[in-house]
Amino acid sequence: MSYDYDLFVIGAGSGGVRAARMSAAYGATVAVAEDTYLGGTCVNVGCVPKKLFVYGSHYHEDFADAQAFGWNVSAKSFEWDRLRDNKTQEILRLQGIYQRLLDDAGVTTHHGTAHLADEHTVVMEQGIFSAERILVATGSWPTVPDIPGREHVITSNEAFYLDSFPSKVVVVGGGYIAVEFAGIFAGLGADTQLLYRGPLFLRGFDEGVRRFVAAELEKKGIELSFDTNVVRVESSGGHKVLELSDGQRIEADLVMYATGRAPKVEGLGLQDVGVAMADNGAIRVNEHYQSSVPSIYALGDVIDRVQLTPVAIAEAMHLARHLFTEQAPAPVAYENIPTAVFSQPNIGTVGPTEEVARERFPQLQVYESEFRALKHTLSGRDERTLMKLLVDGASDRVVAAHMVGLDAGEIIQGIGVAITAGASKADFDDTIGIHPTSAEEFVTMREVAR
Ligand code: NDP
Repeated sequence: MSYDYDLFVIGAGSGGVRAARMSAAYGATVAVAEDTYLGGTCVNVGCVPKKLFVYGSHYHEDFADAQAFGWNVSAKSFEWDRLRDNKTQEILRLQGIYQRLLDDAGVTTHHGTAHLADEHTVVMEQGIFSAERILVATGSWPTVPDIPGREHVITSNEAFYLDSFPSKVVVVGGGYIAVEFAGIFAGLGADTQLLYRGPLFLRGFDEGVRRFVAAELEKKGIELSFDTNVVRVESSGGHKVLELSDGQRIEADLVMYATGRAPKVEGLGLQDVGVAMADNGAIRVNEHYQSSVPSIYALGDVIDRVQLTPVAIAEAMHLARHLFTEQAPAPVAYENIPTAVFSQPNIGTVGPTEEVARERFPQLQVYESEFRALKHTLSGRDERTLMKLLVDGASDRVVAAHMVGLDAGEIIQGIGVAITAGASKADFDDTIGIHPTSAEEFVTMREVAR
């Protein structure tokens, strides 16, 4: 049987575009359908614009810190429209690059909504396409709990395009997005409060890191309210009023929910063709990203394993090699994924938390260092840096590194290579430090703290 395409990809985000381009490079005829924006969440309403906003929001501290270094500057005013629109221009440029990458790879792009008619057929407004294999890489979408007044809140999607900058913001949630955006709003000058339902935010991260970050954010004036739930949100005269579980009522100009992202599967017709899904819509796949329907594959946020762009890209490369080469690609390694939260200061982390490592490695040795970064000895800013190295005493292998501090994301990437390569504590100790940096602390920690 002949098909229009060897592979039809639904969703031109990080995972979908990489799978499409690589498959085409291996000789497959490929099409991709996209109904929103090329580049997906990461490029448009995620990693990239978020990081630009983090840079933008950090300037107010940079202006203040500059004084001690001899500069007479001050942040006179901040123009939200300029940051927002410059960011949008950059995103449009990136969308163009994505289009060119697909074109140059020989991938056909169909702009519009796609759904499945059967296991080999995709229906769009511009036509009905058959494909030997279909890849669903539709990503995820922010979710807001079903509380009265949920229509008065925004999610990160809208935060990137606000008409005006708020003076009081409440961020609800305690994960990556909530913590990053609390820092952005506060840095850009909003009075910012973060509400989290549990006793301490960033569940899943190392507990010492979580406590340390909480203290750092509070120093920056972000109000952290833990063990707090929102009962309802009302809107009156442009203001939002939140009723909290303890009966308190608080006001804000803007309420942003960052309470997780759900697989984006609505309208795809997956159930009708028999694709097995979890209760939250996540498509169930095997080790080669094949769903319960053999010709249909899925990867990235829509399978809800690890919602990170580089993971979706790794999954896409595995799939393209598996489908269109003679290679037997190694499975994607979900252990030891380095990751950063672009809070201010950043969190960078690779490997298990101390709590998990203690269970896995009975002879765990914890090296820990907390200090004021050199820059702040002059700036006077009371911002601290935390570094932790977890070592399995039985084998001397470094099993994890956690950091909170300037450029932690940049630093942990390199440590991630060492951990992936199986470096021992002796290897770290044998490595000569780069002086003066914060990173050198990772190769000079000699005393076991616990
Ligand atoms: P997360 O899953 O990280 O966090 C969701 C937060 O919302 C948790 O604190 C959770 O609490 C809380 N929550 C969930 N449901 C409710 C509810 N009904 N009421 C109140 N609170 C609730 O999701 P995010 O939205 O922050 O981010 C989605 C994913 O995107 C992340 O997991 C991450 O993988 C990715 N991401 C990565 C970034 C990076 O690499 N820097 C940046 C941004 C996003 P609890 O902990 O109690 O469950």
